[in-house]
Amino acid sequence: MSKIYITRNIPDAGINKLKEKGYEVDINPDDKVLTKEELISALSAKPYDAVLCLLTDQIDKEVFEAAPQAKIFANYAVGYNNIDVDTAKEKGIMITNTPGVLTETVAEYAFALILAIAHRIAEADKFTREGKYKGWAPKLLLGSNISGKTLGIIGLGRIGSQVAHHAKNGFNMNVLYYDVKRNEDFEKEIGATYKENMEDVLKESDIVSLHVPLIDSTKHLMNADRLKMMKKSAYLVNTSRGPVVDEKFLVSALRDGVIKGAALDVFEEEPELAEGLVGLDNVILTPHIASATEETRSKMSEMTADNIIVALEGGTPPNLV
Ligand code: NAD
Repeated sequence: MSKIYITRNIPDAGINKLKEKGYEVDINPDDKVLTKEELISALSAKPYDAVLCLLTDQIDKEVFEAAPQAKIFANYAVGYNNIDVDTAKEKGIMITNTPGVLTETVAEYAFALILAIAHRIAEADKFTREGKYKGWAPKLLLGSNISGKTLGIIGLGRIGSQVAHHAKNGFNMNVLYYDVKRNEDFEKEIGATYKENMEDVLKESDIVSLHVPLIDSTKHLMNADRLKMMKKSAYLVNTSRGPVVDEKFLVSALRDGVIKGAALDVFEEEPELAEGLVGLDNVILTPHIASATEETRSKMSEMTADNIIVALEGGTPPNLV
């Protein structure tokens, strides 16, 4: 009977699929991220054939070596920057992710952040709860329209294109994008404009939304120089990965009016936040929940299980990276 280890409890759908196959499924009993030592110790307990891991697990050579029988490490996320894929390939271990099923949800969430930061929704909620609302006032908490404005997308993949679609069709925005790969069909379909230099997107956009994976070339993609290129009136929205932005510089940029505001779902040293971030009113902070709807997390659970099942039955999993 194949043995599966799941590093943290996930929605039932996928777990049930694995159990229905007759697999022995062990789940980390505590609702917390395992330290590397704990993960190694858990994996060493039995000869596991597959591991279902999360983006909060750092999967490296030592972890692979703790599960020498495992054919597959199936990540419960579309991003897989937490896994040493090169070492996995050397060892013949399959790595899979969950692309597509969360695109719509993350794009909706990115848009929710765009609307929330431009209309100061989090700030207004806090203001009201604190009992500061003393009556309608003509200049109370003035925000910015987004309709007709320019949205800059950095990384026009699955999620970035969906955000572009909402911007164009929902809010009649002008959409600019930069990606290492140009997509002319999408440009024609949506009416988006490709910029060969990312800097042109930054200079011309009222809102910049980040949708790149975290890889060597995207670490601190939004560094001090690039943040300074944005309009003073512009907002930055990050639902990609925290280290794509130099968070320390972002704090001073927000404090000194280099840009007008930011909405962040991801952070450089999660769950830690850069010093000074929490004290700022012109930033929205959410705890990495862009894909967190019941429907989507359940689909991710099934997709991760399907990848494991196919691998253990000797096939090539559909979402091999
Ligand atoms: P995708 O692979 O479809 O799209 C990524 C795009 O980025 C591709 O078009 C790629 O060409 C482009 N790209 C790569 N390097 C680039 C660079 N240096 N400059 C510009 N463009 C570059 O991926 P996706 O499904 O759209 O997901 C994007 C990322 O979103 C994931 O890798 C993940 O890290 C993040 N994500 C976050 C959450 C969350 O909860 N906040 C949820 C899902 C995904």
